[in-house]
Amino acid sequence: MPPGRNNSVSILDAPATPATQTLFGLGFQQLTLLVKEFSAPAYRARQLSDALYRQWVEDLDAVSPWPKSLREAISAAGYRIGLPRIEGAFKSTDGTERYLIATSDGQTVETVWMPEGDDGEEGDGSEAQNDFHRATICVSSQIGCAVNCQFCLTARLGILRNLTAGEIAGQVVAVLKRQKFEVGKQRINLVFMGMGEPFLNYDEFMKAVRLLAEEVGIPESRMTVSTSGIVPGILRFAQEKVRPKLAISLNAPNDDIRTGIMPITRKWRIGDVIDAVRQVPLRAKEKVTFEYVLLGGVNDRLSDADEVVRLVRRANLPLKVNLIVWNPGPGMPFHMSAPETVVQFQQRLRSSEIPAYIRRPRGRDIYAACGQLKRTTELVGVSASTLGGVS
Ligand code: SAH
Ligand code: SF4
Repeated sequence: MPPGRNNSVSILDAPATPATQTLFGLGFQQLTLLVKEFSAPAYRARQLSDALYRQWVEDLDAVSPWPKSLREAISAAGYRIGLPRIEGAFKSTDGTERYLIATSDGQTVETVWMPEGDDGEEGDGSEAQNDFHRATICVSSQIGCAVNCQFCLTARLGILRNLTAGEIAGQVVAVLKRQKFEVGKQRINLVFMGMGEPFLNYDEFMKAVRLLAEEVGIPESRMTVSTSGIVPGILRFAQEKVRPKLAISLNAPNDDIRTGIMPITRKWRIGDVIDAVRQVPLRAKEKVTFEYVLLGGVNDRLSDADEVVRLVRRANLPLKVNLIVWNPGPGMPFHMSAPETVVQFQQRLRSSEIPAYIRRPRGRDIYAACGQLKRTTELVGVSASTLGGVS
């Protein structure tokens, strides 16, 4: 504290308006307590929840079933809706859109809309429904990331902060609203594979999942969370009733190579991660995805593929491997595998009966592809077209 000041709050420090509190992100029980505090009947909580999570209102005045007096009382107490706002958008030549979403503290989070999905679902039994709209939203869980994988641009930011459940679920709602998407009528997949490590923000991440499943109405079986292998998080995940499908960023055939590209392997070895994954009770037909980013000359040799086969066999889990071609970023000490190397790697796994798929890179030209999320607002020398500002 600066000299000469004491603990008392001076009139100059007092905020001109009451401190605001965000309603978007509160669960049904919290909304129930809130309406009780304002002496309103319990059914007002359901109306508010529907307004927040089904109608996606942006202003308390739009909570139409509520009497004006209740809206005014809640507003006077400093509450506001707080649905995150899209403040920038970039469109790729392949249709992918990358959004910058503003948070209340002046930060931005990145969210990606892939109108035709990202092929991440291949091999999980859901292709039969491909005639449906199969858009996918890639959601961020933190601003930046602490895990420091050497091939990932997000790692360069370090960790700025965790996102709240409202900020995580709010990305989905903001994008669905912009796309005029009708939940229930159209099919949407969510992948928690944006910025950050979801299992290092476990409570808020899982709260967002429950809001999205129970209030917004997106089945959890259409959601996939990817983790770099945070063992305590996987063990907690194993206990959840409502949970997305699980993807593990394996990225290497053994601990030595993995430590070089994912230093977190020193803390949790591949074997520890697999042991934890085995604790997750899988649903009928559910498979765990092992993601494998191919880095030229580092982990893409056929001998690496053979080692992956042995590792996967030992794991003895229903699983599939998603091969991801590395998306380059400026100044990164890696190179992409040649296309034929990628196909040979895939064939080597397939010839050993391991389902392996190649994930198409989406939105690479606008820095929207896997591992490219880094709040890039200036896209120098790329073909992206800016869609412009506010939604
Ligand atoms: N933090 C989580 C989820 C976000 S990263 C995780 O690591 O799993 C989502 C996926 O993108 C991970 O499988 C990661 O290995 C991959 N990835 C990171 N950087 C990449 C890059 N530059 N090119 C391709 N994939 C990348
Ligand atoms: Fe974090 Fe995932 Fe990037 Fe690793 S790959 S730094 S865990 S976002």
